Amino acid sequence: MFLKIKNLNASIDSTKILNDFSLNVEEGEIHAIMGPNGSGKSTLANVIAGNEDYTIDSGEIIFKDKNIFDFNIEERSHLGLFLAFQYPIEIPGVNITPFLRAALNSKLKNNNEKEIDNLNFSKLLREKASQLGIDIEMLKRPLNVGFSGGEKKRYEILQMSILNPALSIFDETDSGLDIDALKIVTDGISNLKNKNNSFIIITHYRKLLDYIKPDYVHVMKEGKIIKSGDKSLAEKIESEGYKNFWYYESWRNLF
Ligand code: ADP
Ligand code: MG
Repeated sequence: MFLKIKNLNASIDSTKILNDFSLNVEEGEIHAIMGPNGSGKSTLANVIAGNEDYTIDSGEIIFKDKNIFDFNIEERSHLGLFLAFQYPIEIPGVNITPFLRAALNSKLKNNNEKEIDNLNFSKLLREKASQLGIDIEMLKRPLNVGFSGGEKKRYEILQMSILNPALSIFDETDSGLDIDALKIVTDGISNLKNKNNSFIIITHYRKLLDYIKPDYVHVMKEGKIIKSGDKSLAEKIESEGYKNFWYYESWRNLF
């Protein structure tokens, strides 16, 4: 099993958020997670990534055959986990190019691979940037500082394509994006996708899923998945809204 989350209970400031949450993801799969605000989607993303603001009360997360309970954020990233933030933070004073090179080298070093020198990294970065339509000038700027919504997304995708993660989690990366920026995200994911890597896409929008074509769609409510299906589930939610969706689901369950 590539990623196995079993009966995970997690809380923040002693408020229980994830409630016996379970999910299995195989290599090469795209899973979409939907659900109303407050259902625990961002908590799930943060807990998988290893954000220490959250407390795991019980349950397990097995990633690439390792129980990652004791792994910190950096160790999880070295294993191939990547979290794209809902609201990327600005880091003044830290420029993109040296930051990404340090991140990649730290990963290579951890995997006992040869580190990449300045020259070859610049080449790699320029190549990836031009594929994503990123202006070379942007690579000299500090992380996210003064970036537009679309530029922040481009940068997230650039970071992902440099680190080449085994499992990428997108937490509402689509929120507030215009159609061009949405295309950057979906094209970036399509370009990176292969049979060995997987994606968890947290979203409210069916439109995004039309481009990305997830293998599974899950609906989360009160800290757990209450329904799984294919893309048609996203269509149903869009047409019915969550309220009617819950209503019809509970009605259907009577039979
Ligand atoms: P979603 O991403 O599905 O909207 P979240 O994971 O962000 O949901 O939040 C789940 C619940 O956790 C919400 O009810 C939210 O109010 C609560 N929550 C988030 N952060 C904190 C916090 N620091 N203290 C207490 N409750 C929190
Ligand atoms: Mg959220």
